[in-house]
Amino acid sequence: MAHEVPPLPYDYAALEPHIDETTMHLHHDKHHQAYVNNLNAAIEKHPELANRPAEDLLRKLDSVPEDVRTTVRNNGGGHVNHTMFWQIMKPKGGGEPTGKIADQIKKDFGSFEDFKKLFNETTAKQFGSGWGWLIFDGGKLKIITTANQDSPFMQGHFPILGNDVWEHAYYLKYQNRRPDYLAAWWNTVNWEEINKRFELASK
Ligand code: MN
Repeated sequence: MAHEVPPLPYDYAALEPHIDETTMHLHHDKHHQAYVNNLNAAIEKHPELANRPAEDLLRKLDSVPEDVRTTVRNNGGGHVNHTMFWQIMKPKGGGEPTGKIADQIKKDFGSFEDFKKLFNETTAKQFGSGWGWLIFDGGKLKIITTANQDSPFMQGHFPILGNDVWEHAYYLKYQNRRPDYLAAWWNTVNWEEINKRFELASK
């Protein structure tokens, strides 16, 4: 079964004014689709990879044949990262975190405001294209960044949330103002979904 771009779980304009409709169309329909097409093309060369979930390919990149390993890393990463990204946002999202993730954020960062500030500062500094992530490592929440489409799965971590700081994610609306995009993005987050992911990350 070939990999597929999942449909956006809300309307393309639903995250306005924080993320504009045109960006959502390009990002979901063009960029994500291109990662999926490239991943499928690599897998066609190695049909033994076809029944493995994309997360599994990233977790065990060493098991992917060398001639397609970089393609799978970049495009499998792009597919998995974006699939998460659409799900952890929602219309009328944001606000204070809820559930267990709220308690853990308070425990590990002092307050939601302190966490957000550190996440935004860390992610704003990611040089070039990449992602900012929240992971759970050794019983603690940690903020990390990755370059390109590298995924926390590649380091053995389950991503609880991640924000895309490739220019394609924000440039039409925010141009070079990455910090403004990062600040606005919190108005889209879906804490119910992030709590589900925190539960998976805790296992
Ligand atoms: Mn992207």
